[in-house]
Amino acid sequence: MRALGIGEGGSQWRGSVVEHAIAAIQAASVGIFLFCHNSSSASADARPDGTKVNRPPGASGQMQGVMSTVDTFQFVVPPPFDESSPGDCHFVSSDGIQFKVLRHSLVPSSRYFQELFQYLPSSTSHTDLPTFYFDDNARLLHALLIVLYPVHTPEFIDIKSLQELTDRQEKYAIPYSTMMHAVSVIVGRNYSGPAPTEDLVDVYTTAWSNGYRREVKHFSRFMHKMDLTDQSIVDRLIRNSGSSKSYVALTELRRQRETALDGIIEALEPRKHFCLSHSSSDAMFFAFISMMKTAARSALLEPRPTCNDAFEFLGLQPTDENRTVTWCSTCYSKADKAKLTNQLKVAIERYPQTISIMPDKDAWALFM
Ligand SMILES: [Zn+2]
Repeated sequence: MRALGIGEGGSQWRGSVVEHAIAAIQAASVGIFLFCHNSSSASADARPDGTKVNRPPGASGQMQGVMSTVDTFQFVVPPPFDESSPGDCHFVSSDGIQFKVLRHSLVPSSRYFQELFQYLPSSTSHTDLPTFYFDDNARLLHALLIVLYPVHTPEFIDIKSLQELTDRQEKYAIPYSTMMHAVSVIVGRNYSGPAPTEDLVDVYTTAWSNGYRREVKHFSRFMHKMDLTDQSIVDRLIRNSGSSKSYVALTELRRQRETALDGIIEALEPRKHFCLSHSSSDAMFFAFISMMKTAARSALLEPRPTCNDAFEFLGLQPTDENRTVTWCSTCYSKADKAKLTNQLKVAIERYPQTISIMPDKDAWALFM
């Protein structure tokens, strides 16, 4: 079993992610291979110039010189896959980027590469290395190599590449434990930060599709500003998480929050503190309640709303445009500000911030 590279990026794991990462490493040491791989081997194709090239199984026929993806147009290969690094073969991506690779680093990591290199004699020349052409672009090929190479942490893979790699897990026979390790590191990187740095929908759905309940709950806190009526967002949520429940969980949270707004308003005792002219008619009273709700809704979009001053929080004393409630000087003139602030703090504490509907499967239950 190959060593998982916890030396370089492992120190950045925090909290529950550490436990998850440990579970992944334990799983790796047990050696769980859930994904099978078709036993096709490398084939040699003739190039237009007559020379033979080695083609990995699954690679399509027309790749040389094809610039298929704009986002990797200027991909610069970093060590240890660049030309000055040690290696005994070359991988060329669909967009024509060349990686230098050590075969014996890949063989223990994936049956795909074990079979790919099976009949290839060890190279004798340092200048004319065997070349393999892949139908994935440089960004993805790099992510694949990072995940499979020993002593490399998947920390620097972006969430988009991670998702694409997950789709190709079977193709490249990436062991389940290896893939889980990569997912946990990348999801964990966002979990441990003060706010997710990757695209929030993608981090949330990646955590969801892998059954990371704590992480999914955590990320839902950052999603209050997301437009859930945007069809493209809804599509992405459902497609990437593999379940409509990921979307339902968020809409249910929105519903709970809307209902719970009453508790926020109650904490401010409007009936008691509105002046006579603003509470004598129902129309006027409810118009002001509605304004307070709008102000509260906006203030509570923060992932962790804090309240130091009740009036300021709801815009009874305007601090910015969004929260301003146009108030008269008589309303709340005799209110005990400290008492209202404390009541509001308690109400905010109770206000729903994270989802209550969770992914069905718990990916880690296997290892607990
Ligand atoms: Zn008034």
